[in-house]
Amino acid sequence: MTDQTYKPTVLVVDDEPQILASIHALLEDDFDVVVTTDAMEAAELLKNAQIAVILADQRMPNLSGGEFLSKAREICDATRILITGYVDIDALIRAVNDGQIHSYVPKPWEPANLKVTVLKAATYAKEVTQRKKAAEIVAEQQEALARSEAAYREQTKILRSVLDSMGDGVLVTDDGGKMVLLNPAAEQMVGRSAAGTHQSEWAERYGIYVPGTDTLYPNDKLPLARAMRGETADGIELYVRNRHRPDGMLVSVNVRPLKDDSGETKGGVAVVHDITLAKYSEDILRQAKEEAERANRAKSEFLSRMSHELRTPLNSILGFAQLLALADLGVQHQSNVQQILKGGYHLLELINEVLDLARVEAGQLSLSPEPVLISDAVKEALDLVRPIAGAQNITISADFSAHAERYVHADRQRLKQVLLNLLSNAIKFNRSNGMVVLRCDQALNGRLRIEVADTGSGIDDEGLKKIFTPFERLAADRNAIGGTGLGLALSKRMVEAMGGTIGVESMVGVGSRFYFELALVEHAAEPRIIGAFHSGLTALGQAASYQGTILYIEDNISNIRLIEQILARYPGVRLLEAMRGKLGLELANTHRPDWILLDLHLPDMGGEEVLRALRQDPRTQTIPVSVLSADATPSQANRLQAAGAREYLTKPLDVRQIIALLEKTLQRERPENQPGASGPPSPEQHGHQPDAALRWAPETITLAGIPTELRQQLRSAVQDGEKDRLDQLIATVANQDPQSGRALKNLADSYEYDTLSNLLNEVAQ
Ligand code: ADP
Repeated sequence: MTDQTYKPTVLVVDDEPQILASIHALLEDDFDVVVTTDAMEAAELLKNAQIAVILADQRMPNLSGGEFLSKAREICDATRILITGYVDIDALIRAVNDGQIHSYVPKPWEPANLKVTVLKAATYAKEVTQRKKAAEIVAEQQEALARSEAAYREQTKILRSVLDSMGDGVLVTDDGGKMVLLNPAAEQMVGRSAAGTHQSEWAERYGIYVPGTDTLYPNDKLPLARAMRGETADGIELYVRNRHRPDGMLVSVNVRPLKDDSGETKGGVAVVHDITLAKYSEDILRQAKEEAERANRAKSEFLSRMSHELRTPLNSILGFAQLLALADLGVQHQSNVQQILKGGYHLLELINEVLDLARVEAGQLSLSPEPVLISDAVKEALDLVRPIAGAQNITISADFSAHAERYVHADRQRLKQVLLNLLSNAIKFNRSNGMVVLRCDQALNGRLRIEVADTGSGIDDEGLKKIFTPFERLAADRNAIGGTGLGLALSKRMVEAMGGTIGVESMVGVGSRFYFELALVEHAAEPRIIGAFHSGLTALGQAASYQGTILYIEDNISNIRLIEQILARYPGVRLLEAMRGKLGLELANTHRPDWILLDLHLPDMGGEEVLRALRQDPRTQTIPVSVLSADATPSQANRLQAAGAREYLTKPLDVRQIIALLEKTLQRERPENQPGASGPPSPEQHGHQPDAALRWAPETITLAGIPTELRQQLRSAVQDGEKDRLDQLIATVANQDPQSGRALKNLADSYEYDTLSNLLNEVAQ
């Protein structure tokens, strides 16, 4: 509805219908006119319609106009006009004074005046309504404002208590770089006076340093300064030291810019977290971890080095004991030698296992995983343990036929080692006439489960908890059952290194079941066999028919002696010795031996380098080379075989294996004047007499031929312990008397200074 069409409503109340009609006619052009003779009906109308003006006659039968208008005032805001004659002047004055009416129209009225009065009254009514509405709106707004102020106060209170209770410091700055808010935690870090400080003095004022230095943090690079430039940053570390925190503290700061509604940066807020303790514990933890790792590495290195060191003398013990065992000894001596061998092999087993363990723990266990045919590994292991089981009346039953043709992802050697450990334990810890059952089953996740069950005494719960711990032997030591306590610890580490799992179930008095699972694989690779030779020994009479030249490149005297002793059985075999790689190469070129035995650790050059040089030189290219090393890692063996070694033999040397290889390499009854035997004898060459067979005695050394002055120089070099000078003097001796030179060199190289000294003194007397 527009203003032009809008007509205010006028209610006219009079008991005379003619008057009503005349007023209706007078006003209808400008107003909606509602007329009634009944004051009660009029009151009802007021309640339901929007009436702008009420015209009421004073003289009505039941209710006077004044009384009606007084009632109307309580019902609505319409402008009230009383139509009255002067006779009622008193009532009129009362009505005006009481505010019951806004205006009056005297009788008889001038129609034009009446109309003007009603028009004014309508305008007034409109204004009143508008004012009232405006007042309502203002009141509503005030109420809303009061409500939001209360909510704001409440929120501020909550925020304040959050800030007060925070352990982290909160600092707020305005866009001019003035600090405007610090919570109590921040005040404890930088002091109460900090509020109000300007950005250009923050670092000096708060004592903020670059961590780990005495350099004040550049003010413009401080996180809060960056936030003021609109940047967001987290985890910025600062060092704070001031009179509030004289011991200093390391803090991590997160900052955000403060923005107004238009997105303009109006300051910054920083949350500061004290990380001194956390950093300290982190450092302690890291140091402890590094220390533990260092100690562990040192332990592993120590074990590894010790094992290597132990192998060298053990090499002699086992080698010479094996030689003795081959000799024609009496029963008592033979049994003594067997004891030496038994003890030696036990020690060797221990050293090998300790070495393996050290390697696993140092993360150096090199594995060559490949698809391994399960029946191969199981059969090989069973073949090895069957004789031991037989000797103890233990029956072994193996059921792996359903999976015999399947392949597992494993390192062939290590898999065999695990199987042997479990099988030999199952035999060792069984009862007499007991049983061992080996089974293979498909497990979940494409794995094969291999189980070894026995009918032994079983293991209690306490034992099961520790059984895979190195050197843990449970009750085995008490029961005098041999072993090292390393087999299971190693097996577990090896299986895990092959990506598998291992476990055990046991029942005391019934038996134990050890199992491990490895991933099944589809394709088979060509099985590789690292040369291992088993052969019976040649009768002494036949040994004489082997002919040829062997070059042994080795710097260890005991090993040389051992090979010399082995070759003493072969009068037709000539041995050339070289204690250095370069000499070895020269001897190989000039003598073209039939077989070269090559040690890897030589004083002047690596054995691997010697091997490559041999393979490159056309004169030595085809000579079979067997590498000897104390390092039994498959990766090294594979590398050297790839470089052209025919075999890779591990120390301690197996005498039978050496003999088998010798007989395989040197043909029997070779014709005289073969190419390999040509050339003049070298300083390090010497033959072997049949009567020297199998007996080793120190060489008889006569130094009488050495000039006195040289002898004296030798003596003083020995007394002073000067190895280099001694070596030079011995080289001079060797030029004049090769045999004495070699003997002296052997003694010097093995640091037998007492013997050397005695020898030199003897000659002097
Ligand atoms: P070792 O056999 O050299 O002692 P292991 O690591 O192989 O070392 O075994 C550790 C210990 O676990 C053994 O000494 C023995 O007490 C116990 N054990 C191993 N296997 C069995 C088994 N099959 N039955 C009963 N006890 C066993």
